[in-house]
Amino acid sequence: MDDLLIRNATLLDGSGGEAFVGDLAVRDGRIHAIGRALPVDAKRVIDGDGLALMPGIIDSHTHFDAQITWDPYVRPSPALGVTTAVIGNCGFTIAPCRPQDRELTMRNLTQVEGMSLDVLRQGIRWNFETFAEYLAQLRAGGSAVNLAAYVGHSSVRTWVMGADAPQREATADEIAQMAAIVREAMAAGAVGLASSTSPAHNGEGGVPMPSRLASDAEHIALVEAMGAAGGGVYMVTKGGQMPVSLLEEMSARSGRPVMIAALLHNPMNPQAVFKDLDAISAANQRGRWLIGQVSCCPLTMDFTLASPYPVEGLVSWKPALGLHGQALKAVLADPAFRSAVRAELAAPAVFRLFNGEWDKVHVVETALPQHQPLEQRSIADIAREQGSDPLTTMLDLALAEDLRTTFVAQLLNSDEDAVGRMLNHPHSLISLSDAGAHLTFFTDAGFGLHLLGHWVRERGAMSLPAAVRRLTSQSAELFGLPGRGLLREGHAADLLLFDPDTVGRADKRRVFDLPGGAPRLTTDAVGVHGVWVNGTLVADANGLVDGAALAGELMTRFER
Ligand SMILES: [Zn+2]
Repeated sequence: MDDLLIRNATLLDGSGGEAFVGDLAVRDGRIHAIGRALPVDAKRVIDGDGLALMPGIIDSHTHFDAQITWDPYVRPSPALGVTTAVIGNCGFTIAPCRPQDRELTMRNLTQVEGMSLDVLRQGIRWNFETFAEYLAQLRAGGSAVNLAAYVGHSSVRTWVMGADAPQREATADEIAQMAAIVREAMAAGAVGLASSTSPAHNGEGGVPMPSRLASDAEHIALVEAMGAAGGGVYMVTKGGQMPVSLLEEMSARSGRPVMIAALLHNPMNPQAVFKDLDAISAANQRGRWLIGQVSCCPLTMDFTLASPYPVEGLVSWKPALGLHGQALKAVLADPAFRSAVRAELAAPAVFRLFNGEWDKVHVVETALPQHQPLEQRSIADIAREQGSDPLTTMLDLALAEDLRTTFVAQLLNSDEDAVGRMLNHPHSLISLSDAGAHLTFFTDAGFGLHLLGHWVRERGAMSLPAAVRRLTSQSAELFGLPGRGLLREGHAADLLLFDPDTVGRADKRRVFDLPGGAPRLTTDAVGVHGVWVNGTLVADANGLVDGAALAGELMTRFER
């Protein structure tokens, strides 16, 4: 007897091929049969008439490394159709980590994860030091989704260099020690090595993430160490200064795929991202394997001036980094500081989160009743009315409210014609949800549902079978995830049952369920009827199933 039979659903098998109406049976966590009019002999039978059934979404860019130690359900992803998550992106990992480096590691994570140090201190369970021990902890703790974990460059660097990791280049001896740790982690089951050279990636007080201090020689040595282990994907969130040609060289030397993030469209420099994609195409034509991670979501961030992530990557913002209270307010009020910020925003940049588009910065919530009429209005609009310049307008408003004003900035990726071309690029991977990070700034964990609803149904930018392939088998092939990403007999029963006429993601909302009751943004699924991981129902039309078994597999062997 089968455990589950879904009848008469439109089956999208993940290959990109035509959909067909049929039945799918699950037994012992695997797809047992696919066909028309299968025998009705199952513990649970679901009428899939009018619904679509696809392999579960593979989210290749998440940051659940810390969260998963206290929340094995990795909220909100399973309810949003995600059945497999790749963690450790950008190298923002918590393993390997010696006890004496825990505080430094958490401080490095506060900015990029959008979590306070308190949350991390209360939340993270540190029953490990090495990467292998971290994997053992994950295996023992279980997870609601399947997992593959990168070993993170910044953690490896901190292990070898301690407090010097975010301060200086490494010596040849230190690089050799790092390479040894990367080899060990690969042997323990890492899916690859992840790093960042992005100026937007800072720890507490604006200290750069350790990997940003690495020389080209260090990057190359570590990727070679990964490749020498016989597998692995190298992923890097690259700063504007890191050329695709260097990444091509890394792919050539290691013989491994190189995954490049974060290719987001910048309206103030609209060709930059296409130049990177063209360079990636050219490298592939030369026989290398480069992939550009793109996003189907506009990058929108909520922020206050007490922790304004969108502008913290600006060089001119440095004097304000790491300051709090009166000291921070004094800098924000300083005319010289403001002039420097204005000048920097006026100059072109290769990659910059915020580009002075003041019509795309809105006031979300004010603290004082007399400012309430400003809510939902753009800074550009308010500045015009006040006869002031926009930076002054935003900073003066925030200062008058003790920095409690909430703003929202539409930063990148909002030109939908350009984004549509990026999504359809032959060497792009639709990714960059950043689930588990930036928790108070934005939430794109529902990127897959957004692709199916907005880009397929509303905009017709790609066909449904093509979109499903992008969310499933394309990643499964790239990472070599055995038996996943396709509806095939014998494959894992990772399934998403949804209504193609309504599927999408709801508006973001704030919840207070982090350790200590701290807030995060989340979003609900629309049109999702069921999500199964290895045959276990983890979410239904009402969201995450209470007390669902932790059926996810920690994957440590990859087929490439
Ligand atoms: Zn990331």
